[in-house]
Amino acid sequence: MKLKCSLCGTIYEFIYMKDEPLPSNFPFCSDRCKSIDLGKWLNEEYCISTPLPETEKITEMEQIFTEFHEEAFARLLRDDTESE
Ligand SMILES: [Zn+2]
Repeated sequence: MKLKCSLCGTIYEFIYMKDEPLPSNFPFCSDRCKSIDLGKWLNEEYCISTPLPETEKITEMEQIFTEFHEEAFARLLRDDTESE
C-alpha cells in the first residue's frame, strides 16, 4: 500500500505484513521525519503542559519580592542614618 508521509508529504510504499512489527518510522517516510514530528509534538506538549504559575504562587512571590525590597530599603535607610 502507498502511504503519504504526514510530515513531508512524500508518497512511500508501505508493506504491511501480518504479525510483523510496524516499521520504526511508521507512519512517516523516514526516521528523520518521525523524529522531526516527535520533536514538534514534544515541544507542543511541553508548552501545553508547562503549568502556568498559580495565582497563589504569584502572590507568594510578590510578597517575598516586596518583603525583600522593603527589607533592603529599610537596611539602606538604616545604613544611611548610621553613616550620618
Ligand atoms: Zn517524510
